[in-house]
Amino acid sequence: MCFINLDVHTLQICLFFGNLFTLVLLLAYRSRAASNGSSELFAAGKVLQLAITLLLLLQDVIAIRYTLPLISLMGIAGLTAEIFAILKLLGIFEERVKRLYYGLAGLAAAVLLTLSVLDSRSPYYIAYAALAGALLQVVPGYALGVKIKGTPLQKVMGILYGAVIILLLARVPEALGRPMPADTAGLLRDFSYLGVYLLMFLGTAGFMLLSREHTYAELERVATYDELTGILNRRAFVLRARPLIAAAAKEAQPYSFMLLDVDHFKGVNDTYGHDTGDKVLRDFASRVAEQLGNGDLFGRFGGEEFAVLLHRADEAASNEIAERLRRCVLEAQIEGVPLTYTVSIGVVTIASGMRFPLNELYKLSDSALYEAKHRGRNCVVRGEARGRTPDKSID
Ligand code: GH3
Ligand code: MG
Ligand code: MG
Repeated sequence: MCFINLDVHTLQICLFFGNLFTLVLLLAYRSRAASNGSSELFAAGKVLQLAITLLLLLQDVIAIRYTLPLISLMGIAGLTAEIFAILKLLGIFEERVKRLYYGLAGLAAAVLLTLSVLDSRSPYYIAYAALAGALLQVVPGYALGVKIKGTPLQKVMGILYGAVIILLLARVPEALGRPMPADTAGLLRDFSYLGVYLLMFLGTAGFMLLSREHTYAELERVATYDELTGILNRRAFVLRARPLIAAAAKEAQPYSFMLLDVDHFKGVNDTYGHDTGDKVLRDFASRVAEQLGNGDLFGRFGGEEFAVLLHRADEAASNEIAERLRRCVLEAQIEGVPLTYTVSIGVVTIASGMRFPLNELYKLSDSALYEAKHRGRNCVVRGEARGRTPDKSID
């Protein structure tokens, strides 16, 4: 039922052109966006919806009773494609969700097809179409609005899905409660064109924004984490270390910085190959990460060199942790090769209240690391920070 008195034909024209331009916008956007397949699925859904609006527009030429079976199939397929696109974007397009949808969409399509062939004016048709539409949207609505710890945009999209589900469910008793109007215009008005029209735009705008948000999150992840080991990269480590050092200095808390370098790593590559070398680096990163606390920072500085910033760790605590890190790789076993490896560590501790720039900490621990290599590797050497003038500036 329309609360604005618009004639159905005008609404159909608006819906058709609205869909057409939405599709054009979507395709133009897609041509520049990084693709993970979701925008293709969303565009496919829009193409099907455009075809439906075209058939509805042409119903004076081809009576709706002939096109309703096709409209039914395209409607279910289009909605399913859109939902798949959203689930893909959210990273929850798993095998069991896919199977559930093939089953649900298949069943919905079969029943709608049967109803549309038996009697294109059956009130059961609208009731069932609304019910199927609502059911199919429960998973993305629930995932966006309730389940995943999402962004505000995802929550708003979840609310939008919730509103659509309620709107559709409200149509079920309404459709069953009164006989289907004889004229097609009445039947079509029953579908609340205006609501569909608005939701089409909101849905597409929401999808594009979600897709943007997803791309940014992906870029941020790539810019923050080391691809091979999954720990912080050097840039992200430095950015996060600065405020931690400033806070520790302000609170007069000690902190320690360590440089860790895998011993004879070139030999690992030369003897067992680069892939095995990569496995060693991954093994090393996960072993060290296991030993560290939540407040500590751990990053890959380059090649086989790693850095750790120990939160509130004085000399005794950092000595103990450094020893633990040195020992934790001794029992490492790399799948498929008879290989063990060791690590050398340079560590420096800054006493309460002093703020050293990170590059200074790096230099001090690098000298200690050099000394550790010189002493035969597989050992921890402490660098001396005392006696130096702490830098007041933030590095
Ligand atoms: P030292 O005990 O003195 O540290 O000797 P080293 O062989 O570990 O040190 P060196 O600096 O000579 O060799 C480091 C090697 O690490 C050389 C480089 O090819 C290799 N490397 C750097 N990045 C990667 C990587 O991502 N994967 C693999 N497999 N090798 C890497
Ligand atoms: Mg090395
Ligand atoms: Mg090195």
